Amino acid sequence: KRVEFIEFINAIVDRFELNLREELELKRVLPNKRLEVWIDTDKLTQVIDNIISNAIKYSPEGGTIKVEVLQEKNQVITKISDQGMGIPQDNLEQIFERFYRVDKARTRKLGGTGLGLAISRELLEAHDGQIWASSVEGKGTTIHFSLPLMRKKRGRQS
Ligand code: ATP
Ligand code: MG
Repeated sequence: KRVEFIEFINAIVDRFELNLREELELKRVLPNKRLEVWIDTDKLTQVIDNIISNAIKYSPEGGTIKVEVLQEKNQVITKISDQGMGIPQDNLEQIFERFYRVDKARTRKLGGTGLGLAISRELLEAHDGQIWASSVEGKGTTIHFSLPLMRKKRGRQS
């Protein structure tokens, strides 16, 4: 389905904002232009839900979560950052494997199956997109994903 991505992600972030732990802040950095993408909206909702849920789950008291979207050539890049404990450099690829959890102590407490990011990667690859992570231990994590931008149609549409 053809979707305007900023409108789409705003609606998802709005829904999280309604139920947010009150000491957390959700900040948006969005471009002031239309970015059309061709996506399965249910599947992309599942991807973004998982990334934001992780960011919330691993956020410290009073942390800020930032959702940023930018256009890079013919791609739409989304970055979702938190100020949590971070992920060691050696594990940045493994978190996209099925059932992988960074450490058992933290995850026993926080729950989850370790499938969210593996599924997110599959769903994004099916959209010709990519997903990757960057992190500074003790400072926070950013999950980045890309989607192809739809070419603008020329002329008027009916
Ligand atoms: P599920 O999503 O299936 O409920 P999960 O959240 O543990 O379980 P993933 O979303 O796949 O699984 O994440 C895999 C692991 O990556 C997590 O268990 C956690 O160790 C680490 N991780 C993911 N996101 C973050 C984050 N924002 N900060 C710190 N660690 C993270
Ligand atoms: Mg998860």
